[in-house]
Amino acid sequence: MLPRYPTRPVRVGTLTIGNGQPIVIQSMCATKTSDVATTVRQIEQLTAAGAGVVRLAVDNRREAEALQEIRAQTGANLSVDLQENYRVAAEVAPWVEKIRYNPGHLFHHEPSRSWREKVRFLADVAGANDCALRVGVNCGSIDPEKKDKFPADDPLTPMLESAWEHCELLDRLGFTRYVVSLKDSDPDRVVELNHRFAARRPDVPLHLGVTEAGMPPEGILKTRRAFEPLLREGIGDTLRVSLTVPVTRKHEEVAAGLQIVADVAAGRFLADRPEATATGKRGLEIISCPSCSRVENDRFCELAERVREATRYAAEYPVTIAVMGCRVNGPGETDRADLGLWCGADCVHLKRGSRLLGVYSFEQIISRLRRELDAVIREFVESEKNVR
Ligand code: SF4
Repeated sequence: MLPRYPTRPVRVGTLTIGNGQPIVIQSMCATKTSDVATTVRQIEQLTAAGAGVVRLAVDNRREAEALQEIRAQTGANLSVDLQENYRVAAEVAPWVEKIRYNPGHLFHHEPSRSWREKVRFLADVAGANDCALRVGVNCGSIDPEKKDKFPADDPLTPMLESAWEHCELLDRLGFTRYVVSLKDSDPDRVVELNHRFAARRPDVPLHLGVTEAGMPPEGILKTRRAFEPLLREGIGDTLRVSLTVPVTRKHEEVAAGLQIVADVAAGRFLADRPEATATGKRGLEIISCPSCSRVENDRFCELAERVREATRYAAEYPVTIAVMGCRVNGPGETDRADLGLWCGADCVHLKRGSRLLGVYSFEQIISRLRRELDAVIREFVESEKNVR
């Protein structure tokens, strides 16, 4: 049996998250939400694999309308992922059991309205429609007010301050049916974030996740490095393993989540093994998003695979390459990587840090990336020589 923090119960449709209930495994559809038949098939695939909650991205009215039809065709517990347009919540809430919002995204639409008013709106909508909320804090889109208050070398405190502040507001509003997630692409940071959050708010159920964990098997191992120590201590009431896999293999996320929970419960900690830690932080790291309805080109997963193959020669160098599927999160979430690629409909944007180097076709991008990677490696080798 896993020990568990004494979190409060948060009902999500037919399930309860927290309060010692079994850990709920989640996943997210990578299909176009507006394609009802394909999305329903994906929901059934994920629930058959053991997902207790399935998330969908909804960004516009067309997708919100599709959701009504999806609801009519499945009894699965559905969660909806909001982006900047928080008002879409009112249109989707009747058809789902949970709404995820990102505190960092409440600043773009209607800037004259305070984030507090927007959260009140979301809590009212959720309350009126029997929905739970997730306050989903993400390293790639931190609340700008919080970010400016802390030094750039401390990215974790702004994330935590943001989460705590939203919890306090929701509590004050009398809305306690919420969970919190604090996601980063670095598993050690995920551990620290969740530790620090749980130390102050042990009552709030936590949704664990390593964002942009990448492709299996590396993505699963990276996720284990975060989940194993947290679950071992009783932190985490629900989780998602985010993997860059094609739509037809999305159920692997659920299988990986179930396996991690079972292994930790049985005392098996695979991320502690020497062969696992040897693949740790030094060396080349590829982070890639799991793709979702927003992905702009179906070749995204294949692109991530091509990047992995084409850069194997650089395995020993401490370089991070980020590969993202869309313009919604791609530009921001590639900023921290040494080299970043994000997809448009027919092209791939290549960045070095936060600087855009150019826009290339899917055919051109790999050779251009390798040229830039060679330059990064040359600079690294030079700097090492200077240190000696
Ligand atoms: S980067 Fe874009 S396509 Fe990838 S998971 Fe995030 S929103 Fe979806």
